[in-house]
Amino acid sequence: MMDSKAPYALTATDGAARLGTLTTAHGTVPTPTFMAVGTHGAVRACQPSEVEAAGVDIVLANTYHLACRPGIEHIEEVGGLHAFMGWEGPILTDSGGYQALSLSHLSTISDEGIVFVSPYDGSKLFLSPEDAVQLQERYGSDIIMCLDHPALFGSSDAAILATMHRTHAWAARSIAAHRSGTGLLFGIVQGGYAAATRKESAEALAALPFDGLAIGGLSVGEPHELMIELTRTVTDAIPATTARYFMGLGSDRELLALIAQGVDMFDCVAPTRLARHGVAYTPHGTITLKQARFRTDHTPLVEGCPCPACTTCTRSYLRHLFNVQDILAHRLVSLHNLTHLARLMADVRTAIGEHRFASFHAERIAMLDEGTPERAVPEATHA
Ligand SMILES: [Zn+2]
Repeated sequence: MMDSKAPYALTATDGAARLGTLTTAHGTVPTPTFMAVGTHGAVRACQPSEVEAAGVDIVLANTYHLACRPGIEHIEEVGGLHAFMGWEGPILTDSGGYQALSLSHLSTISDEGIVFVSPYDGSKLFLSPEDAVQLQERYGSDIIMCLDHPALFGSSDAAILATMHRTHAWAARSIAAHRSGTGLLFGIVQGGYAAATRKESAEALAALPFDGLAIGGLSVGEPHELMIELTRTVTDAIPATTARYFMGLGSDRELLALIAQGVDMFDCVAPTRLARHGVAYTPHGTITLKQARFRTDHTPLVEGCPCPACTTCTRSYLRHLFNVQDILAHRLVSLHNLTHLARLMADVRTAIGEHRFASFHAERIAMLDEGTPERAVPEATHA
């Protein structure tokens, strides 16, 4: 809850793009930032020290999945999620609202909350907005996300209004349940795919004493231009002093487009999920290392990248590792992809600080446009 000292400090603006810091109990995060996703309490295949060395300042874990396995009591016994994972930096925990959508065949939603049927053993877990806050407090999370009810893209107007009103009611209940001295509490703006309802949701949540606001229910299949427009509708409707987090997005092009609309925080499973499919980020777009054209490419993955993949081996060697299915390939390309996004965010922050974000943005888009066009978007980008 908002204390006398607000957690987000805005230090510079450049157009709508913002440079700032977000202070948590486990450290201050410079923004814009990209958070590495560790849904089940690990950034897949990467040790915490490696994630930190990649330049990642904050990791994300999932309330619902961790409640299923290993369970809250287990994590509490060890002393909380930081101790359990061996990560000493800030942790944001997602609430479980998105899982109600992605696991909709396994969940039932009412005004009381969400009943999940575990995909692991069929057991039932009931999560009310109060339960979601309490679980995240018990994990020791630095940023607690409210339970929300996203609407599917293509939902009727009536369904969008109903899910938005439920999200607002749950936001108020989450604030009432949130205990002082625990993590920061973020609300989640919903409102479907029309500017009027997005604005209504943003204004309703901005009127509540949240520590930050997320933009939920986007990047789920709507057209790119609509995503940009609705994001701007939200960022225009909330105070400059509030941190803005866009949930579930991780391509260079889209990150830059949303930073230009005033977003501060991002997360996505893409860097590690794509890595497991042999897809690496480069400033010229993603490349699929399994392709035959890399068999005799003895250059580093990305010249000048400080990650373990780029400083110790070549594209031909990485291709070989994928060919022989060595898990070292997954580790190296995951670390490279995380490093790539962390470096992009660092470059973005420098550009905003020097009031040249627009030209930086244009340069990066030109570099992406020069690259070999590849469509390697993962099926699901959300944690
Ligand atoms: Zn690299």
